[in-house]
Amino acid sequence: SRKFFVGGNWKCNGTIEEVKKIVTTLNEAEVPSEDDVEVVVSPPFVFLPVVKTLLRSDFSVAAQNCWARKGGAFTGEVSADMLINLGIPWVILGHSERRLLLNESNEFVGDKVSYALAQGLKVIACVGETLEQRESGSTMAVIAAQTKAIAERVSNWSNIVLAYEPVWAIGTGKVATPSQAQEVHFDLRKWLHDNAGAEAAISTRIIYGGSVNGENCRELATQPDVDGFLVGGASLKPEFIDIIKSVT
Ligand code: 13P
Repeated sequence: SRKFFVGGNWKCNGTIEEVKKIVTTLNEAEVPSEDDVEVVVSPPFVFLPVVKTLLRSDFSVAAQNCWARKGGAFTGEVSADMLINLGIPWVILGHSERRLLLNESNEFVGDKVSYALAQGLKVIACVGETLEQRESGSTMAVIAAQTKAIAERVSNWSNIVLAYEPVWAIGTGKVATPSQAQEVHFDLRKWLHDNAGAEAAISTRIIYGGSVNGENCRELATQPDVDGFLVGGASLKPEFIDIIKSVT
């Protein structure tokens, strides 16, 4: 069965003092066993080493991005190899903020996922539609195209967590309803079944992101195809602990 997964995407936030405070709060929290919930926090690159060092051993860390291939003359980029070298186990790829603000294409994200996995990273791969796309009825077509660019480059899904993050729900306070999330997660799992095989469909965790908070997480967590969350704003606050506890 799929272990519940709670990721905290800190995005481009924090000072060293704030980061240490968040880690202290997490370290002191009483949470369910790591047998029941996998918790991963994702600080900006510059804070990764300190967070990795200070963070409790039952939680792990993720980078928020990495380069699509081996390192070299790519100013400003960080390679998957470097993350592995530092003992960083996870990376978030294809976040909508990067797709939309930095023009990352489906193919580029697919290349990143493929290279990161090949280096031994585990990947939180993000997909999701804009409000315009939802209103025009193309939600599943958009998500299928995003997922297809990954599926074409990857044969083993065991180190991928898929994050469904509708763009209209991110940072807006407009969380998807439990049935809206369940519907997309169900369709995405069916898509995986048809395009990546039964094993990928059964085993891949599909987590929801977009305005998740300490209150709305519980009902979302009861949906059969919602296997956890990718949390933005609330992951910087003590309420992240309530979200970790929403494992059912
Ligand atoms: P918010 O939880 O702030 O809406 O952000 C979600 C997100 O983008 C996580 O990756």
